[in-house]
Amino acid sequence: MENVLIVYAAPEPKSLNGALLAAALKTLTDQGTCVEVSDLYGMKFKAVLDASDFPNRWDTTVFDPAAEQIHAIATDSIAPDIATEIEKVRRADLLIVQFPIWWTSMPAILKGWFDRVFAQGFVVNVGTGEVYGRGLLRGKKALVVVTAGSPAELYAPGGPHGDLHELLRPLTHNLLQFCGLEVLPTHVVYNAAGIAPDDADREVEMYQDRLLAIEA
Ligand SMILES: Cc1cc2nc3c(=O)[nH]c(=O)nc-3n(C[C@H](O)[C@H](O)[C@H](O)COP(=O)(O)OP(=O)(O)OC[C@H]3O[C@@H](n4cnc5c(N)ncnc54)[C@H](O)[C@@H]3O)c2cc1C
Repeated sequence: MENVLIVYAAPEPKSLNGALLAAALKTLTDQGTCVEVSDLYGMKFKAVLDASDFPNRWDTTVFDPAAEQIHAIATDSIAPDIATEIEKVRRADLLIVQFPIWWTSMPAILKGWFDRVFAQGFVVNVGTGEVYGRGLLRGKKALVVVTAGSPAELYAPGGPHGDLHELLRPLTHNLLQFCGLEVLPTHVVYNAAGIAPDDADREVEMYQDRLLAIEA
């Protein structure tokens, strides 16, 4: 893996997520990998897609977000903060998306990153059928890394919450695979809300081992 982009959506650097991020940075850079991080809270990333993302409007009479994305990508006129993220995604062989599970999904700031950065015309062309195997990000890999407050038993198939991997399918399949990315098995740290410090340290080591296995 030459270039990795970690899109990181956790609000507190001194958290378990912060420890996982620091470990990933060290592990990957020690391997000679070039790592970029988009720390969405640290960057105060604008999370809401709106008309101000499109300074060179296709149609100023009515705001059609999808049409404006296609036009902005074709004319290279999307808002600068989005253009910066798009260049990071272009450079990456592996996209790591890391976040704490909030209400069975991703924090809103990360959803906003996908809404704004995964612009039509850049990640897919729905009109020409360039989705899934023909998605525009084909050739790249993705790894979703999450911490879940609840223990694994609650997320077992048939358990009260349901299988976490199925619950994350709107991200892994309908978003990442839809855009052509090859999605690696999700890395989950369960019981993050009640985990003992020693177990947390072990989880950090297991994540480092997982990254080394991917590198290998
Ligand atoms: C709005 C909201 C909605 C939520 N919804 C869900 C949900 O639907 N399902 C669910 O399962 N959970 C849910 N949660 C819980 C959430 O997933 C966990 O709080 C989160 O995953 C914990 O990650 P953290 O990085 O904040 O951990 P932290 O709270 O920072 O740490 C957890 C534990 O890890 C250890 N630790 C912390 N920092 C370090 C460090 N630097 N090095 C080593 N060990 C450390 C400590 O033992 C600590 O107690 C929700 C939480 C919120 C706020």
